[in-house]
Amino acid sequence: MREPTAEKLRQIYGRLYAAYGPQRWWPADSSFVVVVGAILTQSAAWVNVEKAIANLRAADILSPEALLRIDLDALARLVYPAGYYNAKARKLKAFLEMLFDRHGGRLDALFALPLPQLRQQLLATQGIGQETADSIILYAAGKPSFVIDAYTRRVFSRLGLEPPTDSYASWQAMFSEALPPDVRLFNEYHALIDRHAKTVCRKAPLCDQCCLREICRLAMGSPSSGRSS
Ligand code: SF4
Repeated sequence: MREPTAEKLRQIYGRLYAAYGPQRWWPADSSFVVVVGAILTQSAAWVNVEKAIANLRAADILSPEALLRIDLDALARLVYPAGYYNAKARKLKAFLEMLFDRHGGRLDALFALPLPQLRQQLLATQGIGQETADSIILYAAGKPSFVIDAYTRRVFSRLGLEPPTDSYASWQAMFSEALPPDVRLFNEYHALIDRHAKTVCRKAPLCDQCCLREICRLAMGSPSSGRSS
């Protein structure tokens, strides 16, 4: 565990949790619905993802078998509310093909893989990038892979807590090397970061309302690295 990063990350978590409380993110639904949501949420507001999932549920195709069988164009029409619907339909199909080709259509068999192999297999699937893979691993498979997104980068750059390079792997290592591999902690921490970035540490930050202002580099007027936005 890296000190003082671990202590600082714990302090930030404690303040966010005290300010916002438990976020109760996934799994609110079945693991399969979480996977579908993780793929559909790329570049989309969650409210629109929910509309797409509601369409799939109403069409009674929210299962691996039914989604594999449905025609690509019909699937694209159903996921239309989530945007980029043709690409997202193809990504869902690519995931299902991997699931049936390699695991007989069984999500539990895929999720039984050790974390590094699971991540590797997801990343080898067309349309699944690192953030989506880690969301699936953390929120659907229940394994400790810290999710990095644009909100994480924004908030922590402003706080003055950044890895040496601005790559996904470096950002993830900053968290996973400093924190214990605790699924509940990773789940809640990522949800709290997103809540904070959406409500207070917005593009134009509301620093006077922020629970982190006493420990924030930007709020204290120190020069930033120039990465925050
Ligand atoms: S003090 Fe301002 S910049 Fe710093 S985390 Fe809070 S809202 Fe963001």
